[in-house]
Amino acid sequence: MMTKPSVAIYWASSCGGCEISAANLHEHLLDFDANFQLVFCPCLVDAKVADVRAMADESIDVTLFNGAIRTDENVEMAHLLRRKSKVLVAYGACASSGSIPALSNLHSRDAHFKAIYADNPSIDNPDGVVPAVRTQMPEGELKLPRFHDRVKTLAQTVDVDYFVPGCPPESHQLWAILDLLIRGAELPPKGSILGGGRKSVCDECLRERKDKKIDRIRRPYEFVPDPKDCLLEQGMLCMGIATRDGCGALCPQANMPCNGCYGPPEGVLDQGAKMVGTLGSIIDIEPLKGLSEAAIREHVDRVLDGMPDYAGTFYKFTLAASLLEGARPRSGSEVPE
Ligand code: SF4
Ligand code: SF4
Repeated sequence: MMTKPSVAIYWASSCGGCEISAANLHEHLLDFDANFQLVFCPCLVDAKVADVRAMADESIDVTLFNGAIRTDENVEMAHLLRRKSKVLVAYGACASSGSIPALSNLHSRDAHFKAIYADNPSIDNPDGVVPAVRTQMPEGELKLPRFHDRVKTLAQTVDVDYFVPGCPPESHQLWAILDLLIRGAELPPKGSILGGGRKSVCDECLRERKDKKIDRIRRPYEFVPDPKDCLLEQGMLCMGIATRDGCGALCPQANMPCNGCYGPPEGVLDQGAKMVGTLGSIIDIEPLKGLSEAAIREHVDRVLDGMPDYAGTFYKFTLAASLLEGARPRSGSEVPE
């Protein structure tokens, strides 16, 4: 009997949404079961890390690794699964580019602990206790993985073979990848992005663009947009032009702006920088003619007032992999031992 190819699915610093994309394979779950052996997946399979350690190197055919790298445990699992896997895939936005966990790169680890364990109005912590790597209790020593000062992508930690974009990736895209493996088709060159297109979400969006300029940015709760026209040209901050296609432009179809979860399209190095450039070209500059520099600055500030969080808007999914990587001075401190 031929052995089925083995697959592992692992979550590092993530929300579990990428596992949901696997559960959403629906009827293909039966095909998955018929064609693959799921050897490790903490939320679905009762296999322990010790079982993975006991496996021969490169004995797992494909590992779909989701989640960003924030703790010592994440780093250790990334190295372990790299060693045990023939093909390691950064699955989803967190593993590929840091995603929302990496927005914490804008602040130090100490600032996070202060916000969570000291200033948080819903907790009672008069002694200011914060998580420590080792805590001695009457019952014995408690250990926690070290919480790093900076969130990294999987590729900033270990060698990665492929990247699958999306937060989470679309299930049909996951199936297209698994189908490649079932058919024994030749895989694309190492480093390729699987499960996404090469163009932008605008290329697959059915909304009409008319080269209109905007005089202010409007947030989704402020109005009901016209269902046919481009959302960006109606003042909504739609990231479609700076985002890789492959999702089917789901969000604009539902009257919501694309917030960039597939990361930058082919040829774009930095998604946020691309979006800043796009905004520069869509803001109406007609009323600015003849104004002083100070008046122009005031006008642009007024236009941008509708965007309360620049980093969280432009780099929601890509900060760790961006040119900035989360630009702030490092605290240099470590979790107390
Ligand atoms: S900016 Fe958004 S709404 Fe406009 S065409 Fe692109 S994806 Fe569609
Ligand atoms: S439209 Fe944008 S935010 Fe929505 S699923 Fe597609 S890439 Fe992600």
